[in-house]
Amino acid sequence: MKKNLTIKETAEAVKSGEISAKEIAARYLNAVGGKNGEINAYLETFDDALARAEEIDRKVAEGGDAGELAGVPFAIKDNILIKGKTCSAGSKILENYTAAYDAAVIEKLRAAGAVFLGRTNMDEFAMGSSTENSAFGPTKNPRDTERVPGGSSGGSAAAVAMDGALAALGSDTGGSIRQPAGFCGVVGLKPTYGAVSRRGLIAMASSLDQIGPITKTVEDAETVFNVIKGKDKFDSTSLESKNPKSEIRNPKQSQNSKLKIGVLKYDRSGVSEEVNEALDESVEKLRGLGHEVEEIDLPNLRYSLSCYYIIMPAEVSSNLARFDGVKYGFSKQGDDLLGDYMATRAGGFGREAKRRIMLGTYVLSAGYYDAYYGRAQKVRALIRKDFERVFDSPGRIDAIITPTAPTPAFKFGEKTADPLQMYLSDIFTVSANLAGVPAISVPAPEGKDGLPIGIQLIAPWFMEDILFKIGKQLQP
Ligand code: GLN
Repeated sequence: MKKNLTIKETAEAVKSGEISAKEIAARYLNAVGGKNGEINAYLETFDDALARAEEIDRKVAEGGDAGELAGVPFAIKDNILIKGKTCSAGSKILENYTAAYDAAVIEKLRAAGAVFLGRTNMDEFAMGSSTENSAFGPTKNPRDTERVPGGSSGGSAAAVAMDGALAALGSDTGGSIRQPAGFCGVVGLKPTYGAVSRRGLIAMASSLDQIGPITKTVEDAETVFNVIKGKDKFDSTSLESKNPKSEIRNPKQSQNSKLKIGVLKYDRSGVSEEVNEALDESVEKLRGLGHEVEEIDLPNLRYSLSCYYIIMPAEVSSNLARFDGVKYGFSKQGDDLLGDYMATRAGGFGREAKRRIMLGTYVLSAGYYDAYYGRAQKVRALIRKDFERVFDSPGRIDAIITPTAPTPAFKFGEKTADPLQMYLSDIFTVSANLAGVPAISVPAPEGKDGLPIGIQLIAPWFMEDILFKIGKQLQP
C-alpha cells in the first residue's frame, strides 16, 4: 500500500480488500506504542480497536457497504463521549467517569465505518492553549518535543502529526482546534456554529463550542466534516448545513472561479516575524492564483479577546456547576452538603478551571452583570456585524485570511506563569467563535527555524466550501 493515503483512498483500499482495516489499525497502534511514551498524545488507546477493525473487515468480506470511512483510524478528544469508555475532559474531577452514551459525532463516524483508536489529552475542560493544563501531564509537540503542541486539543493535533491516527476530532471554543493544528503542522477546522451537533460534547462554553476535524490535509478535513455535520434533533442549536448561497455563493462562476479575499489588518509588531512573513507569502500565493486580494479592517475585532474572556468564563461557571460531587465523578465529603460541594470542587478542579469559575461568577453577579456580561454581549453583536458588513454587503469579501496564532509553538513553561500571555495566543481565533463563522487553519510553508506555522481562513456562515477550496490551493 502506498504511503500518505488520504482518508478517501484509505476507505477505498479497505472496501476493495486491498488492505484490511485490522492491518491499518495495528499499524497505527504500533506507531502509537512507539511514540506515545514521549509525546503523551493519547491518554488511553482502546483495547477493542482491533476487534472493531475486524468487524469492518467482516462487513467487506460479506459484501456489505462498510461506509465512507471504512477502517479509517481516528483519535478522539477526551471531552467527546464514547459509550462505555472513560471520558475525563482532561480533568481529575471526571478521571473515572464512564460515558453513558455516544456523542452525535461518534454515532455518525461509527455508522460510516471509522475505527476509534483512543482518547487524546487536552487542557482540563478545554481551557488552555498549550495542553499544560491537563490533569494528566502535558503533551509534547511531535515536531519539536521542547515545545507545546498548542491547546486545548493538543493531544488530537499531536496524534495526527506523529502519525498516530489518520484523523482526529477536537473541540474549539476560542481556537482549540485551529491553534494546535497550526502548532503541529496539520489542518484544523472549526465549523460554523450549529453545523455539527454538540450532543455528547462535555460543555465548556455552549454558545461558542464546536466539534471539528484535525487532519493531514484539507481534503481529509472536508471528508470528515461532511460525515459529522447536520441537524440533530437532540441539539436545538444544530442546523442543516446546506447554505443556499454557497459556491453557490457565486453560481455564475462555479468551480474555478476567482474569489475576493480580505487580508485582515492587524498590529504586525505584536506578531512574530516568521508569522508575518508566512502570511505575506500565502497572500502572494493567492494573488498569483488570480484571486482578488484586498486589505480589510474589522474595527471591533480589537475587543474580541476581552469580550471572549467575559462571555466564555460566564458560561464555564454555569456549565461546571454540575460537578458538585453528587452527580458526576470525584467526590469528597465535608461537614455538611455545602461542605461536600466545597471539598469536592476545591480538590477536584485545577487552577485554570477555578480561575474561570471565579471570573465567570463575578461577571454574572447581580452587581456586575450589566457592567461586564451585558456589555460583552453587546460587543459580541458588534463583532458579528463587522463580519456581516464584509461578507454580506455589495462587493463582498468571500473569505478572510489571518495568521492562526501570533507565534509558532512556544516552549513549555513559557506562558504558564502569566495567564494573560497565554490568553493572547487566541487573539486571531476567538472572533470566529464569537461570530459563529467557520474557520480553518492550514499549514504555511515552513519558516527559517523549521517550526510549523498556521494560516487561518474565515468564511461566511455555513460556507465551509469556500474554506476547503482556498485551503486546498494554499496547503503546501
Ligand atoms: N485557548 C482558549 C481558551 O483557553 C480556547 C479554548 C478552546 O477553544 N477550547 O479558552
